[in-house]
Amino acid sequence: MRCEQCGGKIRGRTYTSVTGRKLCQRCGTRLQGRTAGAVNGGGISGRRATSGWYARVRKAMGKR
Ligand SMILES: [Zn+2]
Repeated sequence: MRCEQCGGKIRGRTYTSVTGRKLCQRCGTRLQGRTAGAVNGGGISGRRATSGWYARVRKAMGKR
């Protein structure tokens, strides 16, 4: 079996990505780390945190 990412022969465990691609463990770990980084450090959580802070400020201002 060959890795669909780097084309190298897979030795040992095979990593199956979310999209169903067969990857070697090195490529799989790298892909997983990139996905986790995009979710945790990307704009989604940051935007949500900012909007939540903004909503709280607006609520506080409206009450006063
Ligand atoms: Zn690979």
